[in-house]
Amino acid sequence: MNDSTPIHFPPRSRIAVLTCEPVGLLDYLAPEGGVRQGQLVLVPLGPRRVLGLVWGEGAGDFDLSKLRMVVRVLDAEPFSTQFRDFLTRAADYTLTPPPLMLRMATRAPDLSQPPAARRVVVPGNKAPQRMTEARQRVLDVIEQYGGASFAPSELAQLAGVGASVVKGLVSQGALAEIQAPRDMPYARLDPSLPGKPLAADQQSAADALRAAIAKGGYGTTLLRGVTGSGKTEVYLEAVAECLAQGRQALVLLPEIALSAEFLDRVEARFGARPGEWHSGITRTERRRLWHMAGRGDVGMVVGARSALFLPFRDLGLIVVDEEHDSSYKQEDVVFYSARDMSVLRASVSGAHVVLASATPSLESWVNAASGKYARLDLRSRYGEAELPEMAAIDLRSEDLPSGRWISPTLAGAVKARLERGEQSLLFLNRRGFAPVTVCRACGEQIACHQCDARMVEHRFQNRLVCHQCGETRPIPTVCPSCQIEGKLAPIGPGVERIADEVGALFPDAKATVLSSDLFHSARALKEAIAEISEGDTDIIIGTQIVAKGHNFPRLTLVGVIDSDLGLQGADMRAAERSFQLMRQVAGRAGRQSGKAPGVALLQTHQPDHAVIRAILSGQDEAFWDAEAGARQAAGMPPFGRLAGIILSHPDLEVVAGFARQLAANAGPLVNAGAQLWGPAPAPIARVRGRHRMRMLVHAPRQAPVQAAIADWLAPHRPPANLRLSVDIDPQSFL
Ligand code: ADP
Ligand code: ZN
Repeated sequence: MNDSTPIHFPPRSRIAVLTCEPVGLLDYLAPEGGVRQGQLVLVPLGPRRVLGLVWGEGAGDFDLSKLRMVVRVLDAEPFSTQFRDFLTRAADYTLTPPPLMLRMATRAPDLSQPPAARRVVVPGNKAPQRMTEARQRVLDVIEQYGGASFAPSELAQLAGVGASVVKGLVSQGALAEIQAPRDMPYARLDPSLPGKPLAADQQSAADALRAAIAKGGYGTTLLRGVTGSGKTEVYLEAVAECLAQGRQALVLLPEIALSAEFLDRVEARFGARPGEWHSGITRTERRRLWHMAGRGDVGMVVGARSALFLPFRDLGLIVVDEEHDSSYKQEDVVFYSARDMSVLRASVSGAHVVLASATPSLESWVNAASGKYARLDLRSRYGEAELPEMAAIDLRSEDLPSGRWISPTLAGAVKARLERGEQSLLFLNRRGFAPVTVCRACGEQIACHQCDARMVEHRFQNRLVCHQCGETRPIPTVCPSCQIEGKLAPIGPGVERIADEVGALFPDAKATVLSSDLFHSARALKEAIAEISEGDTDIIIGTQIVAKGHNFPRLTLVGVIDSDLGLQGADMRAAERSFQLMRQVAGRAGRQSGKAPGVALLQTHQPDHAVIRAILSGQDEAFWDAEAGARQAAGMPPFGRLAGIILSHPDLEVVAGFARQLAANAGPLVNAGAQLWGPAPAPIARVRGRHRMRMLVHAPRQAPVQAAIADWLAPHRPPANLRLSVDIDPQSFL
């Protein structure tokens, strides 16, 4: 599926260059050596030099003699026609200016620097004379990255040791220093190595995927299977087929920084590690992977959502694991869903998409039901492992004093696990100690100065924290409103408070809180997770990070502290979200074959709620069908279209005025068959001192929503400092 030879533009001919700057496309003269379509170049823009992409022949009528010349052609593989098509279509779909898209696709450091040789260290052939903790850390990092090479300073930084430690290891021969080309190709993954023998349902799913990939061309498959059913083994077979075809494979994972276990599995399957792309990798690795993706010198990449914008030379497969996960939605600068963009990218590259999940998004469920996607099901857990038993704990009939959240029934279940030496997990999707701090004298709730949000008490940090802007302040003793002392009280539970309660109930148990804010780096969190898997933790108290794919072998009990948390509210998406989260969390229990089946207990005030009933009965399909029916009746996604328009400005009057002006001129929307809802204050009406208003465009499925929105917005010039974002297919329907 490679490009035929790209068009070559001779020296001094007129070319159009897409710059990374808001001006977008500009004409330039091709440089003295000429240039090819799709190449990255540096071009002069005013007094600066900026990055650009050779788009095609220049079309302007500006006099040739007045055009400026390309300064330099960068040493990078030209972007393929398919990749440029993808960027264009992604920009159109998300209503993103093409220069911003180009920025996303050129996020490799030092792009404008020529590659140079550099000093790197690699494993040496001697053992260190004396092993210290710091030395061990350095060697661990090398091992963890599969013997990759590092600049000495980078290695020291990764290991959290001083430069002298690395120097010492070099002088002892435990590390060797070599001159390395800057961008080394990746070790080749060998698709002909045998995989694990598959169970019958795994085998037939793998065969179907292999056949689709061997046939070539675009297609999407929803791979559904309960946690532990062996989906990963199945899609690794799809990767094998893709590699055997000589094409590249991309696997997207949520929380990739935590996925050391996954990298090991790939290495065990293919004899080498894949390229990694996420915020935790070094600059050098980032640069290397970007270039190798373009040259086709990395067969498999495992990455976070932004890996979709790597300039792969020939992408044949995209796997989106845990495809329902909300971290695939980026809601910043460019608003996009990596799941939807995967489908778009695959459709322009003739690639196959595998969407894997135990709890697919309703969108994918409906697409599979309508035949737009193929669907493969794994119906049981792999091997002897059984699905957990599920039961509700009806809080209305439990003796639970106020200020306590662990019911006697749940406490009894934890106690039984402690006696058997098994692990329990208590899940509550709330960071911190208490979500609200209220003054018992005047009723004041402590709020953030800059946001329309309450400050959340974090007792481990001993501060109040705003979850919107991150601002923190000391926990006050005097009420900021009535000045009365000693009346401020935490209301409601967060994970830290549950940890206190656990401490009181089970003083001898070893408890660990897992919450993203308690770890300053992905590495620290990864270590904590490893420690829980292997160590002697009895009780894990965690937020949603525990729901994401970690295997805790000794875990046999999951207790959901507040199953009702996500069920309230008017957002039609709420049911789907709570269902997915609770099903995923419950799936953590008892994954190991040969052990007692796990138990999941849901504390709830509404045991008859449809979501709780669906979770308990295991009737997922009935639940999805019912949800789909409700969405269809309301014309909501995926049966209708939604787009969110968010406006923000420090002055409420300015936002409100501009919003009214837009709303009063919604003709282009109406003509396209769409309706405008709002303006209304956004769900969080003020963030970092900016007032936010939101409008929703609602349209029938086939309506040309993007074009209508573009037409609608085009004639309006936003006031200075007003930010406007368009969120096509927003996560929340509010
Ligand atoms: P999922 O991705 O569906 O949650 P995994 O692929 O992680 O499931 O499989 C769950 C567990 O079962 C893993 O420990 C995996 O190694 C094991 N497993 C799955 N399939 C096989 C197989 N065919 N042979 C041996 N072990 C398997
Ligand atoms: Zn704030």
